Amino acid sequence: MKRNMILFLLCQLLVLPVAAKEKAAQVVAHRGCWKADHSAQNSIRALELANEMKVYGAEFDVHLTADNIPVVFHDSEIQGIPIQTSLYADIKELKLPNGERLPTLEEYLEKGKGLPHIKLIFELKSHATPERNREAAQISVGMVNRFGLQDRTEYITFDLEAGKELIRLTSGVPVAYLNGDLAPERLYELGFSGLDYPYTTMKEHPEWFAEAREYHLTVNVWTVNDPEQIREMIMQGADYITTDEPSLALDVAGVVVD
Ligand code: MG
Repeated sequence: MKRNMILFLLCQLLVLPVAAKEKAAQVVAHRGCWKADHSAQNSIRALELANEMKVYGAEFDVHLTADNIPVVFHDSEIQGIPIQTSLYADIKELKLPNGERLPTLEEYLEKGKGLPHIKLIFELKSHATPERNREAAQISVGMVNRFGLQDRTEYITFDLEAGKELIRLTSGVPVAYLNGDLAPERLYELGFSGLDYPYTTMKEHPEWFAEAREYHLTVNVWTVNDPEQIREMIMQGADYITTDEPSLALDVAGVVVD
């Protein structure tokens, strides 16, 4: 009874207003579905779980080691060791909190290739110099293309140099900008396909929803975990919600899952 009542209220308060929108927003699991048992941020398990949950995409973060091996991890250091200035051999045995070994991009894409319905939301982290950012973009695109995953990958980055290089190297593959400091018109001029901005930025610039539509750019908002804020962003016109609470966001967005 209580559950039914909660579902009823959820429909009244959340789902019905969202359903009035032309298109439901899609849900992106931030660093995969990492809050579940035996999962961890950016782990292979988090990717598998996001796929099982049938979200639109799993977001993950990629750094290049000093010897050009792309690895999947969020922070610049793993267990106190800086990733980008270390050799892969010196960090490869380090474990994620769920016991998995630090995944390489190759291992992550290999798993992703076998999960054909989930999009791979590839965040290329910022590197030390413009040259290094371009190199990171080249190695990343080369590996995605080698796996034949161009149709299932969408790139995001805070770094403008990396973004420009990703745009230059890809054709028809979405590249969105994360840093929140450029208006949609400018992103359009630079060739980005979308903006992927923090909730606070989109609150400060609600006009960017309409401006993005005008330039046919997608709008992704991160990292939105509160149901009211998720609903608010969808009502404003967000195409994607990036969240640490993918199950909750699916309920709020009313995304139809089969
Ligand atoms: Mg990220």
